[in-house]
Amino acid sequence: MNFEVLSSDGSTVYNVMVVVNGGKVKASCTCKAGELGKLCKHLIGILSGQTDLLTSQNNEAMGELNKFVTQIADTECATYVAEMLAADAEMSELKKRLGRAKRNLEKTLKQHL
Ligand SMILES: [Zn+2]
Repeated sequence: MNFEVLSSDGSTVYNVMVVVNGGKVKASCTCKAGELGKLCKHLIGILSGQTDLLTSQNNEAMGELNKFVTQIADTECATYVAEMLAADAEMSELKKRLGRAKRNLEKTLKQHL
């Protein structure tokens, strides 16, 4: 399968190619990071079924992406994607907690001058 995705500034179209074969998932992207073999945000987006990345929001493109996400549901790949998304959500919470602690510390230090 092939998915057309947009760069973050919306100026460039990249292609994410995915192959599912016997429970194994192969994926690549034509962006700079992808060509270096890195896990780019386009790959993450497609693997996690984020339709907002697609150049075309029509039913066909969204249907294809849903079909792909369903196909990989029982693979090791989907397990790692889920783990990554969970860790990402946890990290956001930790960043908020760290920010609150720093702000409180700053406030406390000012109060005792
Ligand atoms: Zn990419």
